[in-house]
Amino acid sequence: MEREIIIVGAGPGGATAAMALAQQGHDVLLLDRQRFPRDKVCGDGIPAGVFEMMYEYGMREKVAQAGFYPVTQMRIVSPQGYNFDGDLSPGKTGALSHVVPRLQFDAMLQEHAVVSGAEFCQAKVEEPILENGQVKGVRAKVNGGVKEIRSKIVIAADGVTSVIARALQPEGHQDLHRAVALRAYIDDIDVLPHQVEFFLYKGILPGYAWIFPNGENRANIGLGMRLDKFRRRKGNLKELLRTFLEIPTIKERLRTGWRLHSVSSWQLNFGSQKNLQRAYGGAMLTGDAGGFINPLTGGGIHNAMISARLAAKTAHQALLAGDVSQEALKVYDTLVREELWKGLYRSYMIQRWLLLFPRIVDVVVRQANQDSTFARTFMTKL
Ligand SMILES: Cc1cc2nc3c(=O)[nH]c(=O)nc-3n(C[C@H](O)[C@H](O)[C@H](O)COP(=O)(O)OP(=O)(O)OC[C@H]3O[C@@H](n4cnc5c(N)ncnc54)[C@H](O)[C@@H]3O)c2cc1C
Repeated sequence: MEREIIIVGAGPGGATAAMALAQQGHDVLLLDRQRFPRDKVCGDGIPAGVFEMMYEYGMREKVAQAGFYPVTQMRIVSPQGYNFDGDLSPGKTGALSHVVPRLQFDAMLQEHAVVSGAEFCQAKVEEPILENGQVKGVRAKVNGGVKEIRSKIVIAADGVTSVIARALQPEGHQDLHRAVALRAYIDDIDVLPHQVEFFLYKGILPGYAWIFPNGENRANIGLGMRLDKFRRRKGNLKELLRTFLEIPTIKERLRTGWRLHSVSSWQLNFGSQKNLQRAYGGAMLTGDAGGFINPLTGGGIHNAMISARLAAKTAHQALLAGDVSQEALKVYDTLVREELWKGLYRSYMIQRWLLLFPRIVDVVVRQANQDSTFARTFMTKL
């Protein structure tokens, strides 16, 4: 079997690359080890920019009909309990941010990739086919047997545990540029309607805990910490969540009969590690497979989709020119650096130098609360 493009992973990154290429008339095979709808451990905070991209691919009506839960404000709570409330800016076309369970959100994207013309197949990719340093397709488990599926280009969008990245990118991510996080859903909690909350306190810095409401009295709740610190403190995520729920201001918001469900943890690859290679002969790494998560906020969906769009653009041009060598695809590394690096680096600096010190976090949050110019400046830097 020979295809033009194989995309491994049908999360936000893979689905975006698939719809971008299929809508340009390319032959796209989209593979995922899971059947959709499927869960993905996440805070479910979907920024406005994501919806703007979905509109560009023809999803405006679907989004309008879905009735997702919009969020218009954020609250940051400092170690000493100071609050800063800020607006979440809408996108250029007026799109709002939302909290949407990934079970629902990713299925909508994957379905749109198929409607756009990509062929979806449930298959667990085991490794890329490598010939003379050039990727020529993948070996995948389909219907109980292992198949070789050849293609001109492979786009890896198979997340943090990417088998394609493992084979091609030996340098990998260092612990300083990774995090671990735990997500749960909680029923019967007092939420701030349409407002996401970030809690920065001593036991979790340089990470944070969150409460992202997704309806009345229910929310996505969780916490995450940079991996090097987590290892050093010999942390236990479930224990940390229990401690968070014991904080008096949180405890008093839990209603009689409250319960957690779907508790699960996962890793994050930050986009702050300098000069990582993501373009190879016949292959590109996108989304979490390439490591593009914001090291301050932990948000990765928008960057996954941006990197996927840039990979699709590079693939389209390379296929038109009939050259899919590393030399031809390395423009992808330049494009992602130009579009994403500045913001990622700035976030990394704030995470490294500010979040380490609880007292400084208190001062910044207090100052932001009192001085709207300072707050606006700080918010635009995020
Ligand atoms: C706890 C937590 C909270 C987060 N909160 C937020 C948030 O609130 N907002 C935000 O923007 N980001 C958040 N993120 C980051 C976000 O989840 C990721 O950045 C985003 O999912 C990346 O999308 P992706 O398409 O690259 O990868 P994924 O969404 O991970 O999709 C990868 C896909 O590849 C498939 N796959 C994997 N291996 C194989 C294989 N071998 N063969 C075939 N298919 C395979 C998987 O089944 C999956 O469908 C959070 C992450 C964590 C861990």
